[in-house]
Formats: sequence, structure tokens, C-alpha cells
Amino acid sequence: MILKAKRVVAGDGKTVWLDGAVRLNGEGVITGVGPAGEIAQHSAGEEVCDFGDASLLPGLIDMHVHTGYWWSEPDAESYRDNPYRIAYFALDTLGRALRTGVTTVRDVSSPGGCMQAMRWASAERGFFTLPRIVHCGRGICFTGGHGWPLTGGVVEADGADNVRAAIRRELRDGADWIKILTSHRTHTPEFTQEELNAAVDECHRRGVKICVHAGTHPSIQMCIDAGFDTIEHATFLTREQAVQMRERGIAWVPTIIAYTYIYEQLCDSSLRESIAGGIDGAALSDFDYFRQAAEAYREHFKELLDTGVVTLAGTDMVLHGAPVMPVWRELAYMVEYGMQPLAAIASATSLAAQTLGLSGETGALQPGLCGDILVVQGDVLSDIGALNRPVQVYRSGRAVL
Ligand SMILES: [Zn+2]
Repeated sequence: MILKAKRVVAGDGKTVWLDGAVRLNGEGVITGVGPAGEIAQHSAGEEVCDFGDASLLPGLIDMHVHTGYWWSEPDAESYRDNPYRIAYFALDTLGRALRTGVTTVRDVSSPGGCMQAMRWASAERGFFTLPRIVHCGRGICFTGGHGWPLTGGVVEADGADNVRAAIRRELRDGADWIKILTSHRTHTPEFTQEELNAAVDECHRRGVKICVHAGTHPSIQMCIDAGFDTIEHATFLTREQAVQMRERGIAWVPTIIAYTYIYEQLCDSSLRESIAGGIDGAALSDFDYFRQAAEAYREHFKELLDTGVVTLAGTDMVLHGAPVMPVWRELAYMVEYGMQPLAAIASATSLAAQTLGLSGETGALQPGLCGDILVVQGDVLSDIGALNRPVQVYRSGRAVL
């Protein structure tokens, strides 16, 4: 099968074919990509799908999701201790994300067993077609630290040995990555340096990558020193720290939208009243933090980007009513704050795949990779918002719309 479009974006941050095409074999693997005329020469008689004035690009990778976090649902209490409801909720979320063009997710903490079951039901058994799943199992915080009340999604551990034991349990239960949480909207770091170093050592000596939630200056520095693989949020990252991250090969997942979306919600007084309860209500009491966070991203993103730190797209949408994995919106913020559109697309495709160790599978339009492809209406290079106009999504070569 041949897919044609006015623009074909490779995902590597530089290559675009005008009037391009992608060729897929019967197994859904990409066997050719380039100018449409050239691809057609080698494929006489094959089915051709011409999308006309569209842009064709690799499926998107969301580096920061919590598929099984149900506590933002209006009927949240009915999910508690009900794994069936949580699983159906996660299934619905993943299906909706796929239909917007998200073909791979890294889940950075969900209730224990949830993502392992989702992957079993999709990748192993084929009950459902879902995005490719990379997951961290449950997150790990210190006793009473950020995330501890998140009913099943985060476990507590104190002291280097117990942090190692918690990591071993998550890996035993199927986690691909490990997630640590070590700051919560204050300047006080949570885990000690010794605990963070132990966490990184326990993962790296076993060939596993490890990510960390750190938002403020002292905890970000401790995480850089410990040598995590990705730092999540790093909201108040400084230029010097971004340089250190680049030098140490640590990627940044800023999740601009998570903070900016909450800030915008909190600015709207009618919405403020409607989100008075639960997790949303807790955010309300931290209005100042979200305001400063939104401003920090807007004012400093370009300066940080210019250090060359690898910057990846993650959405982290957990509030009631928030859109499902709006990677397109995160990329739109990045472009608005100074990133080139091709670079923004790379941050949600090839660069994310490299960080996940999936470059041989997905993240680019390249022969030999899976046909994970997003087709959007219009010119994504002049209007990044075109990413929000999907006309077709392919998961391993199979159309899902
Ligand atoms: Zn998160």
C-alpha cells in the first residue's frame, strides 16, 4: 500500500518530501519513503491512498501520561478499589489517544498492574488496538511525599535500601522504566541525595532507565547530579542546569501544557468554583505556583532550548475535563515559545523514540520501522495546529479511523 500526501515529514527534525509517499508492506512495515514519483516506480499496481493537501508524519509519542489515574473523574469514588473500572477507563483513554495520532505512550505511574494488563491485552493478545506502551509501573516517593495519596499509583519508600527494594518490585512486576517523585511545588527536596543516587544506580546497573518528577531548583540539581535519564517538568530549570543536562545526556520533558492548562483553568473564576473538590481543588490552593510555572515556561523555554538539551513532549493531563493526551497542544506551546516546527515534531517522534530505545521500531518514517503514521489536514510546517486535524492514523500499518 502507498500513502501519498503533499508533505511527508520524516520526523528526524530536518527531512521533508514535497509530494511524497510512504510504502507499507502487508505486515504494516515501512518499505519505502520519498518523492511520490520514485516510490510509485517500484510499486506498480499497488493500492494508493492519496491524502492530497495533507501532511504525513510519524505517529506521536507522549512521554508523560498516567493512563490509570481515575481520580480526576467526576465519579472518582466509584473507582476506588475497583480494578475493573480502572481498566476500562484506561482502555478508553488509550483508544481515544490513538485516534488523535498518539501511537506510543510512556506511562510514568498508574495503579499497579494496570499498564501491564493493557499491554497484555493489546500487544500480546490483540484484543484491542492501542498505542505501544512503555511503562514505569507505580511511581516511588518518600513517606508523605509528592503523589503518596494517589491511590495505588505511587508507593512510599525511605532510605537507600528500601528505594532499591521498591524498584526491584516494580521491575519484577513488569515495569520497563522506573519513576521517582522528589519535589512538590516547594523548594524543599524530598529524597536525599543518597536515596536518589541509589535509585539511579539500582536501575542503571540493571540496564533500566529512570525518570524523575522534579520541579524546583534544588531538587532538579540533585537529580542532575544523580544522573537520571529524563527529568519531568523541571519547571524552574536554569540555563546552567540545562547545559549540565545536555552534557550528561539527560533529556527534559517540560510538560508545559500541564501547568499552563491548570493556570488557565484557575484564572477562569467560573471554572474555579466548579473544581473546588479533589485533586483539582488542591491545585486551586497552589494558584501562585501554577502562575509562576506557566510564566517560567513562556519566558525561559527558548533560552533553555538553545543550550541544546534534548526536549521531549509529554502532556501529564490529569485534571477533570482536560483533553486526552493533547500532544499537538504541547508542541504548539513549544513552537509558540521559540522552537521550529520540524524540531517540535522530532521531540514527539524520533527523539522520544531514541530516549525510549525504540528507534528500531518507531518514531520516524524510515524503511524497516513500523507503520505508525499520522495524517493531518493542511500544512503542519506553517501551522503546527494542523496536528489537531487528524484525517487518518495508522498503527503498525492498520488504519484506525
Ligand atoms: Zn505526572
